[in-house]
Amino acid sequence: MLPSSINCDTCSQSYDFPDPANGLYLYAPQYDVKNKTVKDEHLLSIPKQPVWCGTCNAPTFSEDLRSIRDWEHAIALTKMNKSIEYPINTTPLEDKTTAIEELKQLFNIRQKRHPKGHCLFCGGLQYIEFNNPNQQIRHDGCGGKFKFLYSVFSCIYRTSAYRIYSTDGKQIGRLQQHGETEGTFIVNECGYDSPNEKTE
Ligand SMILES: [Zn+2]
Ligand SMILES: [Zn+2]
Repeated sequence: MLPSSINCDTCSQSYDFPDPANGLYLYAPQYDVKNKTVKDEHLLSIPKQPVWCGTCNAPTFSEDLRSIRDWEHAIALTKMNKSIEYPINTTPLEDKTTAIEELKQLFNIRQKRHPKGHCLFCGGLQYIEFNNPNQQIRHDGCGGKFKFLYSVFSCIYRTSAYRIYSTDGKQIGRLQQHGETEGTFIVNECGYDSPNEKTE
């Protein structure tokens, strides 16, 4: 589960993460550039992690790409019908056939990439990972440590809340509306916007 905000343990100041819901950040490996459309069935949820982005100057999420070994391990566990948390979340009871298919497609993307993912809000690489034990994040000024806060979010979002990314981790735009063909969405090729903008 991704955190919704961080709180400084010394001065109590808190900062909100962008909307942390799963699936709001999607790869579109078969994006139709000419018609600006994507098919629902081709969209993949981006594995992500909480970071402090220096460019956004805010807590955001970045792609969480990790090592090839981590991926092979996750695929092996899924093939043994065990549940995993990374790069996708599966539960003990669910059928793993769809998960294997999704993992393979995500692994294809991962294999073509450098392990450092992009910030999902500016495309940059200037961030510190909260979950990396070698990178201590302290509150500027007071020097306090941050702790994560979690909250339960609604699972219903507007179509425009879904951000679409190329397999290079750069934002293409947001889903706009259903296209004429069933299962197709038209993409609004907008640029990055502030991580503090609320999508509901
Ligand atoms: Zn502080
Ligand atoms: Zn950023």
